[in-house]
Amino acid sequence: MSLLHIHDPLAAPRPIGIDLGTTNSLVAYVPLLGEATTLLDCDNDPLLPSVVCYRADGATVVGKEAKRLAQDFPQDTIVSVKRFMGRGADDPETKRLGPYRFATSDGPVVKFAVAGDRVVNPIEVSAEILRALKQKAEDELGELGGAVITVPAYFDDAQRQATKDAGRLAGLEVLRLLNEPTAAALAYGLGTKQNGTFAVYDLGGGTFDVTILVLDEGVFQVRSTGGDSQLGGDDMDRALAERFVRAMGFSQGAELPAGHVRIALDAARAVKHALTEQDVVDAEIEVPGSQPLLQRVTRDELDVLIKPLVERTGVACRRALRDAGLSAKDLDGVILVGGSTRVPLVRRYVAELFGREPLTSIDPDQVVAIGAAIQADLLAGQGKNDAVLLLDVLPLSLGIEAMGGVVEKILPRNTAIPASAAQVFTTYADNQTGFVLHVVQGEREMAEACRSLARFTLKGIPPMPAGMARLSVRFDVDADGILKVSAQEETTGIKQEVEVKPSYGLGDAEIERMLLDAYDHADNDVSLRALRQEQVEAERIILATVSAVASDAALLAAGEREAIDAALQALKQAAQGKDHRRIHDLIDQLDRICKPFAGRRMDRSIARALSGRSLHDVERETSHARGIEPHLRPGAES
Ligand code: ADP
Ligand code: MG
Repeated sequence: MSLLHIHDPLAAPRPIGIDLGTTNSLVAYVPLLGEATTLLDCDNDPLLPSVVCYRADGATVVGKEAKRLAQDFPQDTIVSVKRFMGRGADDPETKRLGPYRFATSDGPVVKFAVAGDRVVNPIEVSAEILRALKQKAEDELGELGGAVITVPAYFDDAQRQATKDAGRLAGLEVLRLLNEPTAAALAYGLGTKQNGTFAVYDLGGGTFDVTILVLDEGVFQVRSTGGDSQLGGDDMDRALAERFVRAMGFSQGAELPAGHVRIALDAARAVKHALTEQDVVDAEIEVPGSQPLLQRVTRDELDVLIKPLVERTGVACRRALRDAGLSAKDLDGVILVGGSTRVPLVRRYVAELFGREPLTSIDPDQVVAIGAAIQADLLAGQGKNDAVLLLDVLPLSLGIEAMGGVVEKILPRNTAIPASAAQVFTTYADNQTGFVLHVVQGEREMAEACRSLARFTLKGIPPMPAGMARLSVRFDVDADGILKVSAQEETTGIKQEVEVKPSYGLGDAEIERMLLDAYDHADNDVSLRALRQEQVEAERIILATVSAVASDAALLAAGEREAIDAALQALKQAAQGKDHRRIHDLIDQLDRICKPFAGRRMDRSIARALSGRSLHDVERETSHARGIEPHLRPGAES
């Protein structure tokens, strides 16, 4: 009999925390009274296997049932989809993984061809897992007030973006992405301290991650990460399964029926789990076509088998500490995360490695989801606990408008904040004495389609030839998400700063609309961007060539001027059109034709240099062929 849950329809929507794991996923929440807790399924199990099976009849099955189907339908059942998040189809990692049929061999996202003539990508597969968790939460809690979803600390922009998009696709309001180790630290209440240094040791089903976290004035920062993407509890299962397979009468390296392998692996996992509690287990393993196999396994025997695997985690831990510039004694705590850290040998090993007892009071399977729920609760209750200022990510990219209206992204969206980045720009025109800096936010390639945050002008730069000035533009985003832009012309030291609040007035709905827009326009934008860039480049090289020919006509060989003029003419015409490839080719052509002439100009410059000028000046004068830095629009004073 299933229980009916009764919830108060007037109760405020509850925010949830989700651990979207490689092997298992969980959802947790903070009740009005009491501690954060994970939601259980009908077997009282908080873990939803991260497995999605696409059946031939068009149905989609998620979780335990999908895991069972994986044996019979390996190509239609996506396991460990997290490994594919944010990866392109031609990514070497993609090719190495899984027994899947890939729908394309290139492109920005992997696509799986599955039963029922369906093609799905990792974002959609993850969204199925999230949808199942969302359903579970809604059944129990009623209306949801948004979700915090955790990601590995090492996840890059594309992987984070993919995770967030999966959340949206599942119909979740993603309040924030949170790093898994940070979530674990929050679950242990470490966020209420001001300072501290922690190691988070996460041994899951197929991956091992170690993170050194620094809590500085209430802000968590990831100091270093390390691990092994091919190491986890599954390897322990394989080590023990090998012993069972030999006991079944198969010798090492023999060809095995797939069914036997599955049986041995399942038995191995069950025995491994039992040995976490007991010293000895008697297993009875059903073998098709023969007597059941009776196996007695002691914990000591398991320890011998898995010791080499466990010791491999030490290498990554020592390296992560070294990368963080720390030694084990500098740590204030070690947190255990992941189902495989239940194994007693693992706990002993970690205690020895770090020279202290790790924190284990919260279930290592659930600790990340619990931390995510705590964070979701804090975010929903905004301000209730201002003391916890967490590491956050930028919701949208921040950039500068360059020549042609093209956006140069300086901090991409989902960059963890606080963050800083700088980019050098140069002048476009000769004697340009000012720069207009236009700061924009958004994902579109053209500035006019993004949100304008600020405009300021840097003036008073002494006249210099085009491409000579070096304008260093620096973006600093602090933990509150406040952006400070500073610009300095490096050869003169002229400097200016502005402060902008990028996320003010920009609701989630608007961000969403912009994201959808960016998807819709992606193709369009990319070719428009390419066209504008080539046009700017064409204009620049035309100006430079005309000016060189005018000032050094004496260095032109016979017939050279005509050839250059013809190439100039062709390029000018192409630059009016829309074919960026043709413009590119004609720029190359002009470059080629001008080469001997440019060589003679350079020889002359060197001759001048040898007669007294610094080689540095000469180099700067002659190395102008192709723009290295993006060019900024001339300022008001130019
Ligand atoms: P992931 O982060 O990859 O989703 P989990 O943290 O859920 O993975 O860990 C799954 C792994 O934990 C599996 O290999 C499972 O066998 C192992 N595990 C779970 N419970 C136990 C236990 N009681 N003893 C030993 N290993 C366990
Ligand atoms: Mg995990």
